[in-house]
Amino acid sequence: MRILVVGGAGFIGSTSVETFVDAGHDVTVYDDLSTGHASAVVRPARLVRGQMEDRAHLTRVLRDERIEAVLHCAAKSLVGQSLLDPGLYYRNNVGGGVSLLDAMHAAGVTRLVFSSTAAVYGEPRRVPIAEADRTEPINPYGATKLAFEGAMRWFAASHDFQAISLRYFNVAGSTERNGEDHDPETHLMPLVLRVAAGEATHVQIFGQDYPTPDGTCIRDFIHVRDLAAAHLLALEATSEGDPSFEVYNLGSAAGFSVREVVEAARKVTGRAIPARVVKRRSGDPPVLVASSRRARRELGWQPQHSKLEQMLADAWAWKLTHPTGYSRPQRTDGTPVDRSTPRPGTPAPA
Ligand code: UDP
Repeated sequence: MRILVVGGAGFIGSTSVETFVDAGHDVTVYDDLSTGHASAVVRPARLVRGQMEDRAHLTRVLRDERIEAVLHCAAKSLVGQSLLDPGLYYRNNVGGGVSLLDAMHAAGVTRLVFSSTAAVYGEPRRVPIAEADRTEPINPYGATKLAFEGAMRWFAASHDFQAISLRYFNVAGSTERNGEDHDPETHLMPLVLRVAAGEATHVQIFGQDYPTPDGTCIRDFIHVRDLAAAHLLALEATSEGDPSFEVYNLGSAAGFSVREVVEAARKVTGRAIPARVVKRRSGDPPVLVASSRRARRELGWQPQHSKLEQMLADAWAWKLTHPTGYSRPQRTDGTPVDRSTPRPGTPAPA
């Protein structure tokens, strides 16, 4: 399959690219490198640098590369930032996304998988959350992902798209070559590993007075490898049947509490990892766990790496081999990028 991965230089996108390349697919990445890393794109995948809003450029790339299916994982994805700057989120996640849909329609490409989020559900009325449950996002991040899903639905109906949206919560772990390198970093696991590595003095636990067994929030973590496998299964599923828009939740079916994550990280790393309880972070529901029964049944998805210890061990191994993340100079030249992409997996200079 000839696949375009929009946002393929980011954490989730680059890992998906690896999985597609390993499975023998021909992959092109389209990314503006605003948060992604050129060196995260494994060869022989090609990197084209471009903006989502540039519909003409996207259309050209889709045609020139004779793309058959698109994985869209380019998005602004920080809840706090989305509350401070909703316009940025609507421009990027909705405006940029619709530009992609238009470009696909213009180029005659109708197979699309979207990397969505369980934030579209907002505060769940029950857990585990099922696909048919009410969607009522509580921040612009979730609202813009849901708005884009709406656009996908109508493109499927009006332009014969076969589109699948995958909704999931917390992605963790890493492969040997690609891991998590965000700036700023706000996610629990990488922050815990920063403390383990001596880059910060302690972990802040945001609230220990939630109605959960140990008082800390419970989250549904999924290994990025399992997520990449789901992306591939979903892309394959778009080749069959009538034009459609489908939604699948992805999760590990069992959540872990913030305390459990810190405790497991201590075991995996052998480091002390001091933790301090501070006040709740606003907008954090006590328990977020998704039911993935539909994805397992219909896509044949079977998470294999999403054990807590394994996710932490893999992310820790990547951190040890990449102490400064992807801190190579980023290319600023045009497209397509040549084959001299620095080989991912090479430890960055200390
Ligand atoms: N969390 C925490 N300390 C941190 C970062 C996160 O206690 O330094 C908690 C956060 O309040 C939430 C859980 O860890 O309950 C997961 O947060 P994260 O930001 O990683 O992902 P989210 O669930 O918000 O997508």
